[in-house]
Amino acid sequence: MSDHIVTVVGSGYVGTTTAALLAASGIKTFALDIDEAKLAKLNAGKAPFFEVGLDSLVAQGIESGNLIPTSSYEEAIPQSTIVMSAVGTPDNPDGSPNLKYVFSALSSIAENASGPLVYVQKSTVPVGTGKEIIEKYAKQSDHGLNYVSAPEFLREGTAVVDSIEPDRIVVGSTDSASAQIITQIFLDIASKRNDIAQISEQTLRNLPEPEVFTMSIESAELTKVTANAFLALKISFANSIAKLADATNADVVEVMDAVGADKRIGRAFLNAGRGYGGGCFPKDVKGLISSAKASNVDMSIMTAASELNESMPSYVVDQLGDVSEKKITILGLAFKAGTSDVRKSPGIKIANILQNSGAIVTAFDPQAHEEARPELDESIVLAESAQIACSGAEIIIIATEWAEFTSVDFSVAKGALLFDAMNLLDSGEIRGKALDYKGVGRKA
Ligand code: NAD
Repeated sequence: MSDHIVTVVGSGYVGTTTAALLAASGIKTFALDIDEAKLAKLNAGKAPFFEVGLDSLVAQGIESGNLIPTSSYEEAIPQSTIVMSAVGTPDNPDGSPNLKYVFSALSSIAENASGPLVYVQKSTVPVGTGKEIIEKYAKQSDHGLNYVSAPEFLREGTAVVDSIEPDRIVVGSTDSASAQIITQIFLDIASKRNDIAQISEQTLRNLPEPEVFTMSIESAELTKVTANAFLALKISFANSIAKLADATNADVVEVMDAVGADKRIGRAFLNAGRGYGGGCFPKDVKGLISSAKASNVDMSIMTAASELNESMPSYVVDQLGDVSEKKITILGLAFKAGTSDVRKSPGIKIANILQNSGAIVTAFDPQAHEEARPELDESIVLAESAQIACSGAEIIIIATEWAEFTSVDFSVAKGALLFDAMNLLDSGEIRGKALDYKGVGRKA
């Protein structure tokens, strides 16, 4: 049992995963959120959203008493020696990061601290935020604050495995003792990976021990957004090449398989499709552009990547020809497979564009109906299964790479066009089922 008591502020994708893993590694952990609906789910031993393997970790944390959901800063903060902030950092309409949740949580922490705290920033914040937080906290509290930037690299859909088997641990601080404490906590979780994987029924990838990078706060902050920006850049690059492939009768999958075989380049994130979405890539790219602008640095390379990405849902729709009165099925509303998260989901954008263009749209997602419903045009029908959704459709669009879509019997939509906006399926097999097939940057 650790001497430390931790409060994780924010019980979203990052906060819940972090808190459940801290609890599983033997640390008494408060999961603090202002959203009572999320806390009710946690108290019932469930994650507040779908994430593979997380329900069982949460259930075990609640049962052991190590995971304590609460909305009370007064309860959690005075007992804690470490606070990890994992609140949301959405973007403002102009693309700049909105830090109101970060600073509001900070004020509540400062009001309730009863002694010195190690404050760990798990949220993705623009470079320079740590310095601002240290200055603000000094004005709000007489107690000391040792600030550690520990950016989060987990991916929704594989959040548990990513966190117990991380590629690397990045820690930025001016206080080496605090940096050491936090590094050790994350290394402990990684060292217990076999036990934790068993609880959450996860298969490990047998990665080597994570590499630890200790650096300045500013470098850690910039590392996080740079990593996401580079991945987004690769996707947009692949989509630019896909558009050229469409215009020249080349096949972007054939091209990228060969290009990615070059070890200097790598195949990952060169999949063309309907573009990236989610709560991270779009806003982190815009956040980087905004930070660069504030420092008078040219970041037009990322502006181009972002604009190209925003063009992709309409590009998919443009490939379909006249859609008026056509029965169109969208398979996939989550922004990626393995999650119920629909933030900035391209599948939802495509569905709404089609509905507004006069199509009759049906949609299906294995996990995301509850989250998707408020985002969808109200005349879009949600089907009970992929099979039912496809029956009688004139056009089927795959908009999320759920593995189960590979086993749908598309013969229920004979003569339809299957537009594979994730380039998920093998076109030869589809042809056998008498469907027209088209992917993004793939030969018809
Ligand atoms: P989220 O929106 O799922 O969760 C944020 C939570 O914070 C919400 O439950 C909200 O109710 C809570 N909250 C807001 N203000 C609060 C306050 N004052 N006190 C207590 N709770 C408060 O967000 P997320 O996806 O978990 O992302 C959190 C941060 O981590 C963001 O900065 C994001 O960019 C970053 N990040 C996310 C991912 C990911 O895959 N989701 C991966 C890496 C990093």
